Amino acid sequence: MKILILNSGSSSIKYQLFEMPGGAVIARGLLEKIGEETSIFSQKSDKGQVELKQPVANHDDGVNFIIGILTDPVHGVIASVEEISGIGHRVVHGGEEFTASVIITDDVIEKIKKYADLAPLHNPPNLMGIMACRRRLPSAMQVACFDTAFHHSLPPHAYLYAIPYGLYKKFGIRRYGFHGTSHLYVAKRLASLLNTDKEKLNIITCHLGNGCSITAIEKGMSVDTSMGFTPLEGLVMGTRSGDVDPAILFYLNSKGYSCEELNTLLNKKSGLLGVSELSNDMRNLIEAKTRGDMRAQIAIDIFCYRIRKYIGSYLAVLGHTDAIVFTGGIGENNAMIRHGAVKGLEPLGVELDLARNDTAQRSETLISSDASRIKVYVIPTNEELQIALDTYTIAGNMGSGTGALSRT
Ligand code: ADP
Repeated sequence: MKILILNSGSSSIKYQLFEMPGGAVIARGLLEKIGEETSIFSQKSDKGQVELKQPVANHDDGVNFIIGILTDPVHGVIASVEEISGIGHRVVHGGEEFTASVIITDDVIEKIKKYADLAPLHNPPNLMGIMACRRRLPSAMQVACFDTAFHHSLPPHAYLYAIPYGLYKKFGIRRYGFHGTSHLYVAKRLASLLNTDKEKLNIITCHLGNGCSITAIEKGMSVDTSMGFTPLEGLVMGTRSGDVDPAILFYLNSKGYSCEELNTLLNKKSGLLGVSELSNDMRNLIEAKTRGDMRAQIAIDIFCYRIRKYIGSYLAVLGHTDAIVFTGGIGENNAMIRHGAVKGLEPLGVELDLARNDTAQRSETLISSDASRIKVYVIPTNEELQIALDTYTIAGNMGSGTGALSRT
């Protein structure tokens, strides 16, 4: 059974076509810079690598473009779209509604729309991908996998804010958490590496990409996570501030900043970009830092320090911790950031092996010393595979009359 997975971000669509149940990747690709003057497309498959540059105006055109390549007589890997039985979509915000992946119905679409105001950078492009697939591949079963679902196990003391309880009841203001598919995937991979079940492990998972979050996982269940009501809370990110004193907003409002400007300020102009005033891309900042750029240096220092604070607090949340996992573009690739994030935690049982850390890149690697009480790993995330597994399981369950999957 061929399952297509779409991860539609604000300006990109990542996709993978899987042969399930084995999980073999038939093709994988990335369409970047959607909406810019020139979009960049690349695909790898056993037909070789395709790289193209051309304008792609929006996500609708993006999905059409990707389907066109998958079925292309030269570069294509399938003869017709009819071969695709299921499509799994990453959807960022599922509110309290979705505790597991679900088949996409009109009702599910309405609920994804409802949560768009809580994840304005994410749910709208996710929905555009879904709608385009509905038009282009009407016979394929579509499944939504929510970033929030894994965090449904947060206890009330972790998900409630200390604001009037009525606001939770009336508006659903609470912490939801995001990147759940990634945190779940790396927790499962870690359990497999340690030859045990994730239900037997307490883990701190650090997803460090453009968006960053950290999760405390107790016996396989998410019990606290750094992102909150929206993906804005918590760690420092590419363009998002993470935690700030909310009083800053009242103060800036009194200085003439509108609500909309404050929203843009914290979501799009803050984080690494805001502090460095240079770039939201960690690679650029590391390069600038080596040239002696002090603003790049401080942006990186704040980034690492915030991670360290969260790791420290989650060590306290979990009590006993078996392992810390780094994943995401930064977590998988950069030894200096990983080192900066756990430096000084030796008295708490976390000690890196610097040589192991330096050589670990995009592969499942132990990077702590043999003496470290808490193991530290790099584990590349694979949200697409996790979504493919969910989509395949739902498709299988459909045959036996069950529509939803309990995530494992
Ligand atoms: P997304 O959250 O959009 O999926 P990724 O997980 O791909 O993003 O992470 C993107 C981030 O990873 C960017 O800040 C990029 O600079 C960073 N990154 C990628 N490779 C490296 C590297 N070798 N060193 C440092 N940062 C890297």
